[in-house]
Amino acid sequence: MAVQYQDYYEVLGVGRDAEAKDIKAAYRKLARKWHPDLHTGKKKKDEAEEKFKQINEAYEVLSNPENREKYDRLGKNWRNGDNFTPPPDWGEGVRYYSAGDGDMGGFSDFFETLFGTGGRRTAGPDMGGYNSRPMRGQDIESEIEVTLEEAYHGGTRSLSLTSSKACSACQGRGIVDRGFCSRCGGTGSIPERKNLEVKIPPGVSEGSIIRLKNQGGEGYAGGTRGDLHLKVRISPHPIFTVKGSDLESEVVVMPEQAVIGDKISAATIDGNVNVTIPPGSHSGRKMRLKGKGMPKKGGGRGDHYLVVKIDIPQDLTEEEKQLYASLKDLRRK
Ligand SMILES: [Zn+2]
Repeated sequence: MAVQYQDYYEVLGVGRDAEAKDIKAAYRKLARKWHPDLHTGKKKKDEAEEKFKQINEAYEVLSNPENREKYDRLGKNWRNGDNFTPPPDWGEGVRYYSAGDGDMGGFSDFFETLFGTGGRRTAGPDMGGYNSRPMRGQDIESEIEVTLEEAYHGGTRSLSLTSSKACSACQGRGIVDRGFCSRCGGTGSIPERKNLEVKIPPGVSEGSIIRLKNQGGEGYAGGTRGDLHLKVRISPHPIFTVKGSDLESEVVVMPEQAVIGDKISAATIDGNVNVTIPPGSHSGRKMRLKGKGMPKKGGGRGDHYLVVKIDIPQDLTEEEKQLYASLKDLRRK
């Protein structure tokens, strides 16, 4: 039984070493160009239908690793349209089916001889020949901005994400039997908006990753979804500066508090604490509140540093002015 050899690489205009993405790109471009609905006039339409059929057939073979490998084994010595007799060792691949229901559905005798009708992707993802092995979906990376308080205490955050999934109407090909897939508009994927409740574990730090299992890209042929990786960014805090696992904040005191010392209340990430300003504190003095910082990776907590800032009062009363004047006189004696 002699059939005509089809050079699928030539049909798609790609090299024999073309990568999957190049094959897909070439296919999409040609399928758009030769789509029968885009051509008018009997002769032109017939030509387009023939081309469109060839393009689809070539893509069926070259986009499927098993089919492509089998096809490549035929070697390069055949030319498009040559009479070709399948070698006797083709085993069960040599099955002859009459082509589809006529119309545009049929593939060439060559194709049917090589792969049987079961090799057709359009027969559904579970049919033999088509690569139907389950594949896990891709992991998706994104970011989540949290407040310092959320990073410390943990919390829950609603997150709205836009990703895309393979169009189920066309199995991600963008093309259905007779034209562009109307569901995805020929792009092969449809946007998917997801609302997620994200649990922020206590003690996350800048750059740490929150992993959400099975919230990533859609799996293929029954494969599990990938994971979603959220990289934590901590938004700037109005009071605290983050330095690794340590925190720092200013504590503003009056000159007399700095001179003779005082007890004050200072804010920390887990509430106010009473702090003693030692007598003779000058501007820039750092006071360490041990273990009042952020959680450390290996356990324990960093420290909180209070930095003294002396504020010079601008609104002195008459009495205060006199007291300062007295102080000045005393210092001169
Ligand atoms: Zn589609």
